[in-house]
Amino acid sequence: MALHHKILIGMAAGLAAGLTANLGGIEWLRTVLGNLEPLGLAFIRLITMIVVPLVVASIVAGAASIGDLSRLGRVGAKAVVFYLFTTAAAAALGLILSDLVRPGSRIDPATRDALAARLSGSASEFVQRAEPSLSFTGFVLKLIPRNPVQAAAEFDLLPLIFFALIFGAAVATLSSERRAPIVGLMEAVSQACTVIIHWVMKLAPYAVFALIAVVSSRFGVDLLRSLLVYTLLVLGGLALHNFLVLAPLVRVTARIGPREFFRRIAAVQLFAFSTSSSNATLPLTLETAERKLGVSNGIARFVLPLGATINMDGTALYQAIAVMFIAQIYAVPMSLSQHLTIVLTVTLAAIGTAGVPGAGVIMLIIVLQSVGLGAQAETGIALILGVDRILDMARTVINVTGDLACAAFVARSEGEELLPPLETAEAES
Ligand code: ASP
Repeated sequence: MALHHKILIGMAAGLAAGLTANLGGIEWLRTVLGNLEPLGLAFIRLITMIVVPLVVASIVAGAASIGDLSRLGRVGAKAVVFYLFTTAAAAALGLILSDLVRPGSRIDPATRDALAARLSGSASEFVQRAEPSLSFTGFVLKLIPRNPVQAAAEFDLLPLIFFALIFGAAVATLSSERRAPIVGLMEAVSQACTVIIHWVMKLAPYAVFALIAVVSSRFGVDLLRSLLVYTLLVLGGLALHNFLVLAPLVRVTARIGPREFFRRIAAVQLFAFSTSSSNATLPLTLETAERKLGVSNGIARFVLPLGATINMDGTALYQAIAVMFIAQIYAVPMSLSQHLTIVLTVTLAAIGTAGVPGAGVIMLIIVLQSVGLGAQAETGIALILGVDRILDMARTVINVTGDLACAAFVARSEGEELLPPLETAEAES
């Protein structure tokens, strides 16, 4: 049975068990499922532990194997433009939808205050973790690591990637006999990481069962009722971005039909949904791009780690809707120029969002501050926190889909043959 079918079964069973415990109020089942949480977390850790060595090895080997610097620059520029364009498009789509539906205008003040009071403790924790502001220069400075080893130790992927890209580009300029041992070592490291992933992925269906069961057994179903319009708007917006922006882009730029594309990347989407983490999904994203979409490993390894860290279409769409929702709830009008500010800050904030669960909410605080909603940030976050986990799962799916769409586009534009016969790909994985 294909991996994504097994994951799907784990997910459905987890959802059934979690909802039974939750809706049926079966306390003992909730406790049993709650006890499974470490299993799910252990799995995410096992995958995440490969990310640092894999990112460094992949990018250095990828950059070095792309070869000459001008090609490297071209591939990098295409990826960055694609990432920025789709992120800004997602933010704009979120704004348009919020203006049309006005989800925040549908909540009465009593419900608003009750919701805000309920999760105010967790919201203030988030606010404390947020950075004070978002400036372009601050962002650029954070990009450059003082010490790449420290960046790796702190799981600060963006500066680590920055270093790996420059190092890889430098390796590409060396004579072939100098380059060979470094590239050979890096390729061997990333192959060993792939072996570990194959081992760990055998646990995926069980871990996914645990992760989904825990989330659904704890989910505040009553909160969902009050925030239904907002939740459905974010989910609908993500679906629209998936089918009306990314799918046509893949068709036009990579010449892959939507059905074929989604069939081949199904396991990645399910995995992103279950783990809520682009970073934890990265090993599988890389593998899928290479084996199922047929992207060369040079391009996949160069483009995807970058995407998993900076490209967050789903997060951008979610942040745009969340800002508008909070503004509408507190009846703060948003002018046209503030709409533009939102697109800009959300794009930057999404780039700065780490690919880990819940990171999008922390960066949302900065976006709120940038449009004068700083005073409402804490209560606003408390309002939406109750449904955040489910939205996190869904936005992570779109985040990784955008990465794969970009890899397919860049590969095709560099003249690569995509879509290897699936039987072989399945058999190999
Ligand atoms: N969980 C998301 C991701 O890993 C980031 C977010 O919280 O929006 O892609």
